[in-house]
Amino acid sequence: MVHVPPAEPEAADVADPGPQGWCVCGQKVTIADPREVTLSNGRPGWQGHCSECGAPLFAIRRKAAADS
Ligand SMILES: [Zn+2]
Repeated sequence: MVHVPPAEPEAADVADPGPQGWCVCGQKVTIADPREVTLSNGRPGWQGHCSECGAPLFAIRRKAAADS
């Protein structure tokens, strides 16, 4: 008897939909056409476009455990 709740956006073990970031349109969106970039301070980031409104979007990558 397992009651399966409706899927939630923040459910734990979903496949990684890709990098996400906060857009100027006020939503946390998945970055469309993401490219890996590196900031001048050495931090890794993603650069792409908002999948909702198409605005340029940037997010910090934080999966790498290379934080000193
Ligand atoms: Zn947007």
